[in-house]
Amino acid sequence: MKANLKDLSPGALRECFARERLPAWRADQVASWLYARGVEDPRAWTDLPQELRETLAERYETRALEVASVERSVDGTLKAALRARDGAVLEAVAIPEEDRTTLCVSTQVGCPLACSFCATGLLGLERNLSTAEIIDQLARVRELVPERRITNLVFMGMGEPLLNLRAVIEAIRTLQHAKGFAFAPRRVTVSTAGVVPRIAELLAAVPVNLAVSLHATTDAQRDVLVPLNKRFPLADLLGALRRIPQLSRRHPVFVEYTLMADVNDGTDDARRLVALLRGIPAKVNLIPMNPHPGAPYLPPAPEVASRFMGELVRGGLVATLRRSRGGDIDAACGQLAGRRSGRAAEWPMRGERALRDR
Ligand code: SAH
Repeated sequence: MKANLKDLSPGALRECFARERLPAWRADQVASWLYARGVEDPRAWTDLPQELRETLAERYETRALEVASVERSVDGTLKAALRARDGAVLEAVAIPEEDRTTLCVSTQVGCPLACSFCATGLLGLERNLSTAEIIDQLARVRELVPERRITNLVFMGMGEPLLNLRAVIEAIRTLQHAKGFAFAPRRVTVSTAGVVPRIAELLAAVPVNLAVSLHATTDAQRDVLVPLNKRFPLADLLGALRRIPQLSRRHPVFVEYTLMADVNDGTDDARRLVALLRGIPAKVNLIPMNPHPGAPYLPPAPEVASRFMGELVRGGLVATLRRSRGGDIDAACGQLAGRRSGRAAEWPMRGERALRDR
């Protein structure tokens, strides 16, 4: 298979061109066609010499994903199922808000972590995505929402970004490079379930916001919800967060906490969370569980969620209670299940809407 030019960040493209004795500005021209302008056929890159255009077109792919299907939520959220060259299907979600539009991208087809409340976790891992496949989620969805500029990017789709770190870092370089998509550092957020040794590595390589999916305040409970906790227990994870030099009051870690009724939504849970996060610059994002037939969990009643939030605030934490988006098209957090290799698109138990209709 041909190499894909989008596997190379603008910086890597310059190095690659230098080896062919081509000047850096030639590489920048290619990057600006590929990324800023989104023109993927090298034969249309009119400011390049004819011969170079032909060589590039012959040697390289420039497209990694095609749109398989698109769904639009009543709230404006758009979910795109995207098909890779090998038939693997992954999902990306665009979430429009008043002052921004956020794109949520996937980093793996499926996910190996098997968090007990997450739909993607039911799939297991099919494979990692390439840098080009990560980047093309932005390229394709941008074409689907021409009326909005995508201002923020979150690595919160299918998969665990830190288990595909090399490709994720290269994609972030392209996202943030002036000749790439020119996203400001703080407009890119990487979320991890807690692959502890790779957190420092990520933040040393690229300037991004860090989000950590915590969801539980005791190891016994987190072992069940996030089995990765058995390898990297709470003390290791929180210890690592305390030692990360890039975190500060201005640049806190975002702690994701999915509220599940009668599982982790009690006052005692909230108090333990306050205690655990003491001394860590953190902002807590509470996400009510998005129910799906593959998991036995439900969101708490609104009063319970508010009480939990109130307890955090009383404890001195900065916290927000997120409103879920795109639930009607299974585009909400933890509902991305994709379609694997053209097989049935459905949940293992799709049709049992009982949970959702509660
Ligand atoms: N693997 C990474 C990236 C995925 S982010 C991580 O775990 O951080 C997806 C976020 O949605 C995570 O915080 C995840 O815990 C959360 N989530 C998963 N399933 C959910 C569900 N059913 N309802 C609400 N949030 C969910």
